[in-house]
Amino acid sequence: MGRNWAGNIEFSSDRVVAPATVEELQDLVHRERKVKAQGTRHSFSSVADSDGVIVSMERFQSMEMLPGGRVRVGAGVTYGQLALFLHEKGWALHNLASLPHISVIGACATATHGSGVANGNLATSVESVTFVDGLGRIQTYVRSEVDEALDGAVVALGALGVVTGSVLQCEPTYEVAQNVYIDLPLNECLENFEEVGASAYSVSLFTTWARPVIDQVWVKRRLDREHADLLAELGAEPARRKLHPLAEMDPVNCTEQMGVRGPWHERLPHFKMEFTPSAGEELQSEFFLPPIQACRAIEALQGFANEITPALFVSEIRFVAEDGLWMSPAFAKGVVGIHFTWRKDWERVRRVLTKIEQTIERLGGVPHWGKLTTMAPQEYIGEYPMRRAFKQMVDGHDPEHKFRNAYLDSLFNAID
Ligand SMILES: Cc1cc2nc3c(=O)[nH]c(=O)nc-3n(C[C@H](O)[C@H](O)[C@H](O)COP(=O)(O)OP(=O)(O)OC[C@H]3O[C@@H](n4cnc5c(N)ncnc54)[C@H](O)[C@@H]3O)c2cc1C
Repeated sequence: MGRNWAGNIEFSSDRVVAPATVEELQDLVHRERKVKAQGTRHSFSSVADSDGVIVSMERFQSMEMLPGGRVRVGAGVTYGQLALFLHEKGWALHNLASLPHISVIGACATATHGSGVANGNLATSVESVTFVDGLGRIQTYVRSEVDEALDGAVVALGALGVVTGSVLQCEPTYEVAQNVYIDLPLNECLENFEEVGASAYSVSLFTTWARPVIDQVWVKRRLDREHADLLAELGAEPARRKLHPLAEMDPVNCTEQMGVRGPWHERLPHFKMEFTPSAGEELQSEFFLPPIQACRAIEALQGFANEITPALFVSEIRFVAEDGLWMSPAFAKGVVGIHFTWRKDWERVRRVLTKIEQTIERLGGVPHWGKLTTMAPQEYIGEYPMRRAFKQMVDGHDPEHKFRNAYLDSLFNAID
């Protein structure tokens, strides 16, 4: 059986089909009882699992510029490929995740995000999405002022059907300079939390919780915007050499730092396309809360740092701007993602995770769709005001539940 990128999920089926055309995909959906699309298999949760046919869209590799600075992408395209294509033509995306290796469609399906108080998650650039639904129909939702259905169809966890492609809004290419600061005192960070988040185009706070400091602040400044140098004022020191977020690892995998200017796609991700991102042998969890609650959560988690730190490589705290996507954690409110890159020891992680999640649940937080949690959907689904509309949309497109897996069954069972 195949496994996901981290190797923690063994998929429940080894039947993988890679259709070459939309017609082949439609036939497959008509024929099979259970079908599930996968992207680049980077999710840590079982969101992409299937006990039926796994659909790989790797043969849908098209990229085409459209009028108005928009790009049409096939479902097999990764952000790394798309970034090179766009940059050559003088275009850019507004945001990227920490790694470029993931598929555009798979990343948007789970509300994958980068950082920035004014920067929405990656799915916010989607202008249209085309998919084959459970009745084998080709369906397209387009951004429109009179119909908000696209907002339900982008962060859809693969539940609506198999996406064949999307159109994304781009912007003219821009340059970014990345600097890392070390040892930002935690009290200064929390007292000035939103200002810290707003101090650059993208700000990521890395901590191991071992000391009352943010060990590293990764600051990505757009060269076409003004940014104040708040971090030095708050007591952080500029790093004197290039750093990896995991202190023990070689920074060769990381995008350039030390203020060296470069194109957007070579600075917004933390990790370079041609290297393994992050630690490699790891698990990940992440929880989203509005900024004030996130500060409370960070204070509370500091209280049992002695249990978190030994199970952890590093935590990353990022900012995500409010959006209108129904199943996005940032729907109708800006949020902060508190992320954990864990050592690969699930039993140990599970014990500390349940403790973290008590705090998260008390403060109204929700887990990342693509990362590990022990929270049951009943414990957080109430935080999604559009959940019933989403379920209704899914039922309309997938009346026979062809795209359901155990993960989605438990999610939809929790929506009344
Ligand atoms: C090292 C590492 C770093 C990461 N960094 C970040 C980060 O910075 N920010 C962040 O938010 N997340 C991050 N993640 C999580 C990752 O971005 C998400 O899990 C993302 O969904 C993975 O995309 P994928 O293409 O691998 O999708 P998969 O994991 O393969 O699938 C995810 C979902 O998308 C659906 N899907 C995929 N393709 C289709 C299709 N064609 N049609 C319909 N549904 C489809 C699947 O059914 C599934 O529900 C990271 C993961 C790793 C391993």
